[in-house]
Amino acid sequence: MIFAHDTETALVSATVLVNTAAWRADDEDTLLSVADLERFLDEQGWSGARSGDEAELAAVRDLRPRLRRLWELGESELVDSVNGVLSEAGALPQLVDHDGLGWHIHAVPQDAPLATRMAVEAAMAFIDVVRSGELDRLKTCSATDCDDVVVDLSRNRSKRFCEGGCGNRENVRAYRDRQRTD
Ligand SMILES: [Zn+2]
Ligand SMILES: [Zn+2]
Repeated sequence: MIFAHDTETALVSATVLVNTAAWRADDEDTLLSVADLERFLDEQGWSGARSGDEAELAAVRDLRPRLRRLWELGESELVDSVNGVLSEAGALPQLVDHDGLGWHIHAVPQDAPLATRMAVEAAMAFIDVVRSGELDRLKTCSATDCDDVVVDLSRNRSKRFCEGGCGNRENVRAYRDRQRTD
């Protein structure tokens, strides 16, 4: 494990959330309805309050470009952004244990708005990335036709592709290219 378990969970969850957005014209937005959000939250194991309405969906959708910026900022701007999210939300880190997850950090109450909790959880995780000097683990998918973000939690920093099947597609493409030149 590169980071604490809750940090890694938060980084992966933020990555999946960012990648629900369409970052290219030929990409597909998979967070279009309240039902889509419900599914995302269940898959990612999000606890805490949900209003399950259009306003909540809109707030979470709006959060995606802001979270994506965290992958693109240099260190000092990233620090400003993370600190900004935390102070704006009045974050107060507390150790908690629920649902058999073991001790982990919540920095806003479970009844805070979902998009706020998502932003703060990501910011808390990015704290660890910054102070460990691991910014190079924040990547963009190496596939030529994909702009999704990647968090590389592999020991040898070898992860290049997003979870959307790009690794397989690139392998197939490389194989076909080899066949063609043979
Ligand atoms: Zn928790
Ligand atoms: Zn990709």
